[in-house]
Formats: sequence, structure tokens, C-alpha cells
Amino acid sequence: MAPAGNKYLDNIEPATGNVYCKIPDSDNKDIANAVNAAATAFPEWSALPADARSNRMIKIADIIDRKLDELARAESIDNGKPVSLARSVDIPRASSNFRFFATAILHFSSEAHTMEGEALNYTNRLPIGVAGCISPWNLPLYLFTWKIAPALAAGNCVVAKPSELTPMTAYLLSEICMEAGLPPGVLNIVHGLGAKAGQAIIEHPEISVISFTGSTKTGQLIAKIAGPMFKKLSLELGGKNPNIIFADCDFDEALKTTVRSSFQNQGQICLCGSRIFIEKPAYEKFRDAFVKKVNEMRIGDPLDESTKSGAIVSKQHFEKIMSYIDLAKQEGGAILAGGKPVSLEGRCENGYFIQPTVIEGLDVSCRTNQEEIFGPVVTLTPFENEEEVIRYANSTQYGLSATIWTENLKRAHLVAKKLKCGIVWVNCWLVRDLRTPFGGMKQSGIGREGGFEALRFFTEMQNVCIKL
Ligand code: NDP
Repeated sequence: MAPAGNKYLDNIEPATGNVYCKIPDSDNKDIANAVNAAATAFPEWSALPADARSNRMIKIADIIDRKLDELARAESIDNGKPVSLARSVDIPRASSNFRFFATAILHFSSEAHTMEGEALNYTNRLPIGVAGCISPWNLPLYLFTWKIAPALAAGNCVVAKPSELTPMTAYLLSEICMEAGLPPGVLNIVHGLGAKAGQAIIEHPEISVISFTGSTKTGQLIAKIAGPMFKKLSLELGGKNPNIIFADCDFDEALKTTVRSSFQNQGQICLCGSRIFIEKPAYEKFRDAFVKKVNEMRIGDPLDESTKSGAIVSKQHFEKIMSYIDLAKQEGGAILAGGKPVSLEGRCENGYFIQPTVIEGLDVSCRTNQEEIFGPVVTLTPFENEEEVIRYANSTQYGLSATIWTENLKRAHLVAKKLKCGIVWVNCWLVRDLRTPFGGMKQSGIGREGGFEALRFFTEMQNVCIKL
């Protein structure tokens, strides 16, 4: 549908720097229309038996699977990520999100509390109404569906906005939902700018539950607006995750996975580890092997099947990352690998590419080690013992995730418990069971997504007490 103001924004392919399509520049009138459509569809959608909603959602998952190649290619063009990554991770995960919540709702239950001889309490978990879902550009369809699927499964109708930088697969999802027979108004995808269309979602009085993933700064703004309106909020925000490498780790496995956890998707995953702490006896060996592997990484056209490292999402983000590399130098860091933009030939000559960058010699408290860069930039820091590395790991305002590499399981348990973050991986990274709670502590967010937690978030509790 055309935007009410009839205005459009350029959509740029980051690998080429060229505008390749236009997207609606929606405003508060479009959001008001979307909310009306959602509110009109709500009574019927929320009254459906769970298995009827589930069936529609499984159809959506089936169509996503069928369109895997088309969606992966669209995601790669829009975001700059390697098409092989979009095909193996982003799009299958989007389909899993629908399938997972379509089946989870069939097993969702609530509590009953009996007061012997006096009364029986049971708790209803009721759909709330119109949910607002806002997601970022780094894992476009993956994170968009991670919010939309539990909201719909729980019986809500949704107004959702993808990042204006990566709107294409969200648009394709709207077509898929129509093909799957999702009733009109149940899911309303609105394109546009965060500060305009996004904020109109947050401000709309009829949207009383909001699930947001993005930066801590935007999260703070959203909390400020939504707080006085008493909206239910789930905020998944930034991170500055530590990778902790003990000297007794499985060296080859730790090395291989830490290269991946540092640079997958050009470091633009909220769960990437950007601060690598290495126990002193292993420091030189790990550093040298890590730098060697990073120097072997090749950056290429994201649409080339053999490319493992693609483009940075936008010119603005490219400039932000480069400014942090300059800052690291000013702060006294030594660049051990990368540190420069990459010029490719041919179709990608004007794209936004940065070498994977490794820096050492920085204090844990400097800005490079404290602020989220969200790009292919990591720092290496040696540590003496557990106590010191726990202090280092917990020293930022963030608390999203961490990895611990050790063959000493007792130590892994003890260190994990002392880390102030929502997700800890031991001897692995990005292994995800969708039933587990997902989210961060401190300024990395409020609430947890995933599993029944997400279904609880998207429902309102009501206790009914019956005198016996
Ligand atoms: P932003 O906070 O800039 O944007 C996130 C989303 O919010 C986008 O759709 C954006 O729209 C929208 N938005 C921006 N301003 C407003 C506003 N005033 N009101 C409502 N919506 C708004 O984050 P990025 O897109 O730059 O994403 C990167 C960030 O996301 C990083 O900090 C990263 O750590 C975090 N992230 C966290 C995850 C987690 O699970 N904790 C997972 C993935 C990423 P638009 O882009 O169109 O302006």
C-alpha cells in the first residue's frame, strides 16, 4: 500500500553503494491506519482456537522454506551479508521462528492454585491486543520473525517495522503471509524511518505492548516514551561481549570459533565477542595464531557463493566503525591485523567493506573497550587469573553474552555464575535452543525472549478466584 504522505526513501545496496529500490517513508497516519486494521482484526484472530492460528503460521514457515533461495538473495543484497550465510542461518531461522511458536502455543498452559475447601484460583493468559514490533538491520528477517511469531501465536495482532536499511525480506514476508491466508489486518508491516514511523508505533496509545531490538540509545528513548504510558516493554539492546580464553582450553576449537564469533556477519551480530581476554601463559600463542587466521580471511562480493565476509550495512555505519579504529590508535592500540577499508574491483568497487581488525595494547577501561562498535573490530587483552578476567568482563555498561573456553568444567560453572550477562556459552558460540531465555542484563535490555517466556510476554495475566 502506498504511504499516506506519498513519500519514498532510497534503499541502498551496501556492496555497491547504489540505490536499488525505493521504500515507503511512512508517518504517523500510516501507523494509525495499521493500528486500526490490527484492532479490527483482533477480535476474530484472538478468538481462534490455538491450533487454527498454529496452522496458518506453519503455512508461513513452509512458504519461507520454499522461497529459501529468493529470500537469501534478497537479504544478502539488502544487508551486504554473504548469501551463503543468509541461506544457512538467517532464512532457515526465520522459518524456525514461525514453526517454533506455532507449535509452542499448542503446549502453552497457565497455573491453578487451590485453597483447600475455600476457593480455586486459575490464571488466564489473554492476548493483549495490538503489539508493536521493531527490529534492527543486522539479522533482518531472523529478528523480525523472532518477535512477530510469538505475538501472533499468542493471539495478538501486530504492527511491525523493520529497519529502513534492510526492509526487503520484511516486504517479501508480507507477500508470504497473504499467500498463506493470514487474515487481513493480523500482521501489518510498515516501512519507514525509526524516528518517524518507529516512534509513531511507540507513541500510539492503542499499542500497549512493545518488543524492540536495537541500540541501547534508542531503547532508552523508547523507555522514556513508553514508561509513562505504562506499556509492556521488551528491550533487547547493545552488547560488548567478552570472549574468555583460559590456557587449558581446546586451543584449535577455541581459535576457530573465536574467529567466527568475532567476525561473522562482519561482526554485526549482537552476540559477537568484541573483547578477547586470553590467560597469560597462552597469550602470545593464541594472539599469533588468531592474527594469522584473520589475515587469511577474504572479503568479497556478498552474492558470490564462496564469500565468507561481506559488506558493512551502510556508509554511515562504515564511517562509525572507521572512526572507532582511529580512536583505538589514538588511545594507544596497536593494529595487529586489518584496520583499513577494502576496495574491491568490478560491481563492488563503491561498496562499504572493512578489513577484519585486531587491536592489542589497550586498557580495559578505554572507550574502544567500553563502547559498542558493532563491526569487524576486536581487542586482545591478557589476564592473570579468574578474578581479574571476571572484573574485566563485567567492566562495561552492557551484559548481553559471553564465551568461556576451558577444559575445566568446575571453573566454567564458577566463572559463568559471576558474569553479569544473560547468555554464557562454554566451549561453543551461537548454539541456540529456541526454548531458552534470550536477553541481556544491565544496559543490554529488559526481559527475555524465547520459549514460553515470549508467550508470557505477549499475554496479559488475569486471576479468576471461585469460591468453593
Ligand atoms: P537502532 O536502535 O538504531 O534501530 C533499531 C530499530 O529501531 C530500527 O528499526 C530503527 O529504525 C528503529 N528506531 C530508531 N529510532 C527509533 C525511535 N525513535 N523510535 C522507534 N524506533 C526507532 O539500532 P540498529 O538498527 O543500529 O541496530 C544495531 C543495534 O541493535 C546494536 O546496538 C545491536 O547490539 C543491537 N542488537 C541487539 C540484539 C539483542 O538481541 N540484544 C540483537 C541484534 C542487534 P531505522 O533503522 O529505520 O531507523
